Amino acid sequence: MFTPFSNEPYVDFTSPGPRQQMLEAIESVRAKLGRTYPLQIGDKRIETGATIRSINPAKSSETVGLVAKATPAHAEQAIVAAAEMFPCWSRVPAEARARYLVRAAALLRRRLLEFSAWMCFEESKTWPEAYADACEAVDFMEFYAREMVRLSHGQPVTPYPGEENEYRYVPLGVGVVIPPWNFPLAICVGMTTAAIVTGNTVVLKPASASPVIAAKFVELMNEVGLPPGVLNFCPGSGGEVGDALVLHPKTRFIAFTGSRDVGLGIFEKAARVQPGQIWLKRTVLEMGGKDAILVDETYEDVEFAAQSIVASAFGFQGQKCSACSRLILHDRQYDRVLSRVVELARGLTIGNPAGPSYYDMGAVIDESAQRKISEYIAIGKREGRAVLADGKVPDGGYFIPPTIIAEVRPDARIAQEEIFGPLLAVIRARDFDEGLAIANGTVYGLTGALFSNDRGRLERARQEFHVGNLYLNRKCTGALVDVQPFGGFNMSGTNSKAGGRDYLPLFMQGKSICERL
Ligand code: NAP
Repeated sequence: MFTPFSNEPYVDFTSPGPRQQMLEAIESVRAKLGRTYPLQIGDKRIETGATIRSINPAKSSETVGLVAKATPAHAEQAIVAAAEMFPCWSRVPAEARARYLVRAAALLRRRLLEFSAWMCFEESKTWPEAYADACEAVDFMEFYAREMVRLSHGQPVTPYPGEENEYRYVPLGVGVVIPPWNFPLAICVGMTTAAIVTGNTVVLKPASASPVIAAKFVELMNEVGLPPGVLNFCPGSGGEVGDALVLHPKTRFIAFTGSRDVGLGIFEKAARVQPGQIWLKRTVLEMGGKDAILVDETYEDVEFAAQSIVASAFGFQGQKCSACSRLILHDRQYDRVLSRVVELARGLTIGNPAGPSYYDMGAVIDESAQRKISEYIAIGKREGRAVLADGKVPDGGYFIPPTIIAEVRPDARIAQEEIFGPLLAVIRARDFDEGLAIANGTVYGLTGALFSNDRGRLERARQEFHVGNLYLNRKCTGALVDVQPFGGFNMSGTNSKAGGRDYLPLFMQGKSICERL
């Protein structure tokens, strides 16, 4: 029924047509700033009196929108609404559920620039980063729709005489979806629509830094006619509303993407069986990273390696779980790769992406991120040698210039702790073995890259570089749906592999049915 899946193509904002269209989208969104967005519980739109004020990180005086803030009592109502809708939604045929996603993807595809512009304002994403985020959201919906149709036929079973046997998937129940702010559309859409297309009903608690783009997604799902109660929208404080949702006895599963500490807290709370709860809650937890790029002495295209490193470390201001935050250089590559990386990073332009000019970097997400990253930079200056720091940034927003600290020890704090900002720690390795050991020497295991011309080492990395997403001779960011299914090892999470063929079964349970003939 559906045509084969293919990834949404990107546009080139350096060419005049797309550039002009993006400028128009930004102006059109600017005219809509400051609006209010309600909670959505069942068929009710609820203004709560309290709001979350979403701001433009690059211009903190600018209000992007005001989103109604839920209390734990609203969380309770949202779970009840989702639970009431579950019996009905779970019986809607898989193909019909999939069609909601395909239709939503079609609408979003027509409005890619508008949604990108919202992310320029709310997230300070640069145009290409915002556009890639929106394209990934389209990809998730198109891919999961097709995956659900495939899985609706169940799995083959071995024939047995005198019986008819089948193995099918059934939905779990009420899911709580808790996305992070850093892919405010893609991850929010991916986790939510995976849960919905598999027949579950959802309470979505967006990240407090990106509630407007989440509200826009909820509007989109309303536009395609998703029945009330299937998707309930409950923005609010992670600590209060998040806890209430996770702990609720009617919650059947939690799909979370975010930091390690919050993920571990959810893991623990979800394991506590509540009075009246009759199942073990399932958790899909995707968490942080401390990702490394290793360049050995055999790799000759220093220019390509340096460009890839700068894109991985400073794209979206280093605020990607996949961002390169550790650069491990073989002793014999150290000086030439480092000097080119510094040169390229020094040339990056910084500004407000929601303006008329085109920049390489925007602001970091908020004041507390700016403070935390600045503290880490101060620590880094003590732990190593700052080779790029204190660059000039614009006023009026939460900007941090690209920062590179060289001669960092592998066990230094800036080489071990997730910082989530444009700070790159550079570590020297005397040989490939040591480089690989350093790369594997954190509690995380999300992404990693090796630049090498040695076939034997590339093969060893396939086996020994312990990350969920390994890249050989290319940057370590930019995973595409169904091309590089995404999810890490160890403290990077439960390895759910978003955008891959193993993902949807996490939102369902298998049922074996046998009829004696
Ligand atoms: P975060 O602080 O952990 O927040 C993530 C989400 O959890 C937000 O919606 C947050 O709500 C909510 N939350 C906070 N406390 C909670 C609680 N006690 N119970 C339930 N929910 C709670 O992470 P973030 O700063 O948004 O995102 C950055 C992190 O995400 C980084 O560590 C990054 O590596 C990780 N990440 C991982 C992946 C991956 O695929 N592995 C992808 C993207 C990002 P509030 O906003 O209201 O606090």
